[in-house]
Amino acid sequence: MHRPGHRRDLATLDAELSARRDDPRLVAVGEIGLDYFVEGLDGEKQERFFHTQLQLARKHGLPILIHVRRSVDKVLKHLRQTAGGKPWQGIAHAFNGSEQQAHACIDIGLRLGFGGAVTFERALQLRRLATTLPIDAIVMETDAPDIQPHWLYRTQAQRDAGQAQGRNEPGELPRIAEVVAGLRGIGIDELAAATTRNALQTLPRLQSLMALSERAPHPA
Ligand SMILES: [Zn+2]
Repeated sequence: MHRPGHRRDLATLDAELSARRDDPRLVAVGEIGLDYFVEGLDGEKQERFFHTQLQLARKHGLPILIHVRRSVDKVLKHLRQTAGGKPWQGIAHAFNGSEQQAHACIDIGLRLGFGGAVTFERALQLRRLATTLPIDAIVMETDAPDIQPHWLYRTQAQRDAGQAQGRNEPGELPRIAEVVAGLRGIGIDELAAATTRNALQTLPRLQSLMALSERAPHPA
């Protein structure tokens, strides 16, 4: 039994969220969530942590950044149980579910994050979502250094032949966004304006953090 350890870790999170209330870098609780893709993870333990993390986000009045991997229905269940009658504010990052699941997430208050995966032509369902979801429902993300866009991705065969796996970076985002803008048949500026507005609505404290980093001196 590791329950006392869980309680201690979650109590630490609670205390840190209180202590850093005025830290401009505290924009959300996350990334938190459930992963049933990676083998060998304890599902029950994940749910216990996730549930309490959601309660803490509510308690501290913070948005959530959610990892959802083969777990949409369970994620939604915990979001409903902890909502307390108010809509959630948050992002399901690297979303890759069905259209029905996408709308269930949007209905509960989440926006959906799109990144490198959408650049693969074979990602038909994901590209359809990126094309058809209301523009108010989506944000752009990198998940760097993971989720390489196709131009950085090296297949197993290429890696076996000695090529290093590409490293995704935030600097790839404009090119990824070009793919999404192209799918939607809109200009990159229109997409950037909408997804930036969406991100700031979901993460209001990001605005002051961005203002701070613009004012900060650049490292030598
Ligand atoms: Zn994740």
